[in-house]
Amino acid sequence: MPDPGCTNAPPDAKDKAEMDESVLDQKRTCPYCSKVIETRPYWSHIATEHPAEYENSQGTWLPLYKDYATAGMEIATILMVMSELFNAKSEDIESFLMHSLYKEKVAAGTCDADAKAELAQLFGCAITDIEKRIKLGE
Ligand SMILES: [Zn+2]
Repeated sequence: MPDPGCTNAPPDAKDKAEMDESVLDQKRTCPYCSKVIETRPYWSHIATEHPAEYENSQGTWLPLYKDYATAGMEIATILMVMSELFNAKSEDIESFLMHSLYKEKVAAGTCDADAKAELAQLFGCAITDIEKRIKLGE
């Protein structure tokens, strides 16, 4: 009998996609009542169940970002999940986070140039972009 040869395709790519999807599903929990949100669009739960928080959701963005970042979530994924939860544009959330994190770093004693360099690395963009976005948020 001849050897059948290359029948074993590596299953890696598919496994990884499934894992990412399940991590995302776990993260679609309500930041206010911790329930898993199962209905799309995800923001409709917050708009209906927590209308006051939905109107003023920016107070939630920074602490929620920190929870996600601590859990090891990528910035691109964080922005996607948050824009789905709060029905906000991901650029708006990104600008808000850049501005808030910059202020926080400077208040904690990081010098201006270091704070901008750290943000550029975190968001994967140029320092000049960070400067522009921080100015817009002021
Ligand atoms: Zn809720």
